[in-house]
Amino acid sequence: MRHFETPKRDTNPTRKRGTPSLTRRVSFETASKPNQAFRRLGLAGLLLLLLSTPTPTWAEGLRAGAFAMDVTPTKFPISVNGNMADGEAKSAHDPIHARCLVLDDGTTRLAIVVVDSCMIPRELILDAKSQAAKLTKIPRTNMLISATHTHSAPTVTGVFQSEPNADYVKYLAKKIAEGIQTAESRLAPAKIGFGKTRDEGNVFNRRWKREPGLIPANPFGGTTDRVQMNPGIQAKGLIESAGPVDPDISFLSVQSAGGKPLALLANYSLHYVGGNPALSADYFGAFAERVKQLIAPESKDFVGIMSNGTSADVNNVNFGSPAMKFGPGERIKVVADGVAKKVAVAYAKIEHKSSLALVAGTKELELGVRKPTEVDLERANKILDENKDKKVLVGMPAIYARETVLMAKYPDKVPVTIQVLRIGDVSIVAIPCEVFTEIGLAIKKTSPLTNTFTIELANGYNGYLPTPAQHALGGYETWRARSSYLEVEASPKIMSAVKELFAGVAK
Ligand SMILES: [Zn+2]
Repeated sequence: MRHFETPKRDTNPTRKRGTPSLTRRVSFETASKPNQAFRRLGLAGLLLLLLSTPTPTWAEGLRAGAFAMDVTPTKFPISVNGNMADGEAKSAHDPIHARCLVLDDGTTRLAIVVVDSCMIPRELILDAKSQAAKLTKIPRTNMLISATHTHSAPTVTGVFQSEPNADYVKYLAKKIAEGIQTAESRLAPAKIGFGKTRDEGNVFNRRWKREPGLIPANPFGGTTDRVQMNPGIQAKGLIESAGPVDPDISFLSVQSAGGKPLALLANYSLHYVGGNPALSADYFGAFAERVKQLIAPESKDFVGIMSNGTSADVNNVNFGSPAMKFGPGERIKVVADGVAKKVAVAYAKIEHKSSLALVAGTKELELGVRKPTEVDLERANKILDENKDKKVLVGMPAIYARETVLMAKYPDKVPVTIQVLRIGDVSIVAIPCEVFTEIGLAIKKTSPLTNTFTIELANGYNGYLPTPAQHALGGYETWRARSSYLEVEASPKIMSAVKELFAGVAK
């Protein structure tokens, strides 16, 4: 006999004051879901309805399934993006994956996918979601697909002098969909726990204020930049970094009903580490391996996942201190080990619940594009003309001149998908940009739910997301290119959308 849970009070003492505390089973994305109608009818109406309608087909309790799909290309060499000049990989140093987690609360089914890629364009993600929606029972709006931001993966979107390989773009979309399908096929009774710890030693804001006269001109010839990205270790005239860091490591632990670890989705706001030859999953892949060794050494199919928080301006190098010496690839191992050990300590203390609500909310925004002016274009064309014999452009003015010409062809407005997933008392905010850390901190602060983390580079790629104040300071992350093009007011607009979505999922 099936039973339907009456909404009950959540007694979690850590819940924020004033936060609605009913556990629910509502997807506010799909208003026609039967459970919402039941809620409105009340218990008497519910019983009447149950008597008069066929038994609903949803299963009881929380279920979960996870799978790490290998997405290493089968053909080499392949373009690798993440730098001003294109890179090329002739083989894989370590395999790259689309790490998939599917959750089902009996009513709503969600998929969260974290792919070893630098950034994934909207079109590829929409293709992957459409294919996955056909293969599974998961609506496209209930899927979150993000990139880790490893800088040693195949190019799947055009940035600077790297262009994607069309075959690999198709292959990746198909593999992501198949990964979601396999994770869904593994759905089994499960319980979920949330944990949080900190690692202050691996995150440093990379944008620095410097004494007047020391910051070079920007690629457009302007001398108004007040901050410099990656200024050099102990460079002359460093004043202070221009923004905060977020040392939180959040994680969702998924166990079988019997307590066997199935998956762990972690989140840390660190750009990437670097140091392995391409192809490599960087510390994201190394963390997945290390956390498995620490918490599920016996398991054959445990899936460790490291998602990227909001790390647009935060990397692993402290420019204010002397350089640290590492052998090739050693730094990746050190960071992965340190972060995984912190997670393992916190993991030992968390509680898992087998009943919680899943909710997905999405908002589509149309945001303006910072397009070049006629004067900008004229200057860019002149520079490109001077460089017309060069196969590879060298120097920022020429590289950004090419970007200026490409940006002139962009539409005036672009779609930007903002998504919030709720998993019990936890919310995950997904933004398709490289998001400045201070924005992530503000989102966490404003959340009505007890525990919130953000996943950047999710559901598309719309370049860097600085605040208007960071735009005014200038620097690499604000320079107009395919890597940074949204209107200056994009972040307050995105913040309003996040607040609206919070209000929806927290009801
Ligand atoms: Zn980046």
